[in-house]
Amino acid sequence: MRDRLRIAIQKNGRLSQPARALLGSCGLTWRESPDHLFCHGESAPIDLLLVRDDDIPGLLESGLCDLGIVGRNVLCEYNERASSTCGQVQPSELRGLGFGGCRLSLAIPQAWTWQGAAQLQGKRIATSYPGLLARWLADAGVDAEVVELSGSVEIAPRLGQADAVCDLVSSGATLSANQLKPVEDILYSEAVLAGRSNSLPPVLRDLADTLVRRLDGVLRIRDSKLLLFQASRHEVDAVVRLLPDAEVPTQYPLEDGETLALQALCHGAVTWQRMEELKRAGARGLMVLPVERMLA
Ligand code: ATP
Ligand code: ZN
Repeated sequence: MRDRLRIAIQKNGRLSQPARALLGSCGLTWRESPDHLFCHGESAPIDLLLVRDDDIPGLLESGLCDLGIVGRNVLCEYNERASSTCGQVQPSELRGLGFGGCRLSLAIPQAWTWQGAAQLQGKRIATSYPGLLARWLADAGVDAEVVELSGSVEIAPRLGQADAVCDLVSSGATLSANQLKPVEDILYSEAVLAGRSNSLPPVLRDLADTLVRRLDGVLRIRDSKLLLFQASRHEVDAVVRLLPDAEVPTQYPLEDGETLALQALCHGAVTWQRMEELKRAGARGLMVLPVERMLA
């Protein structure tokens, strides 16, 4: 039985570098095979398999990999199709990772005026996500033809293959270059950590738990700052009210009995303007420190 955890990530594409950087910030290092398909974990028994993103859910379902980093769009589409065939334990989303953000959107020709889902009745819609689209159409009670294409979905209306499309959008530039406009969002996507929860043998589960704890630490402090300041007891509440994006501050009384020293982990931006507001409310000796690591 395997005693090394195996994580599938995208080999080449939008998610490859951020996925490796995120795992790297959890303290993992690797030696990459000459064919760039496998990375042997050096700092921990955690290896990477470098694959096409579409293959990741299947690798998880078959148990060849234990965890994967993949777009929610790919994971949900896989599960949508699998649910109609049924079978083994499907991979599920364990954590949203905060990168690779995009939407799966329904887009129609710019010349149309959008009047709602009923307008698609009897129309042809091109997509690489037939499972998710079919589910959305069924929920909307619309009978439309789903035209499955593996790529270049957005040119389908110009080629006469379809009337509308359902495709991934981030800026919308590709759609407008093809005289299309997005009208409905079917799924909000980002990169996710996926796995088959509770189905790992104990050794692998311990490794997976450790990794997920480290990931949680990294995600929690991403863009976070530690604020250190002092305030009089009677002004503390006013200062803390200006920190709705901070965790409950830790407070220590100083010797004079009237002053408190506080530290708060703040998840939002701490601008100069914000520091000046905190000072006006009574914060003194305000310091903003970067947070490097955290283990809850
Ligand atoms: P592969 O060769 O691995 O199959 P791919 O061409 O399917 O690669 P990419 O284009 O690298 O995949 O996209 C990977 C993921 O990035 C998508 O599944 C999606 O989750 C996310 N993504 C973010 N923004 C966009 C976008 N504008 N278009 C497509 N995908 C996006
Ligand atoms: Zn792909």
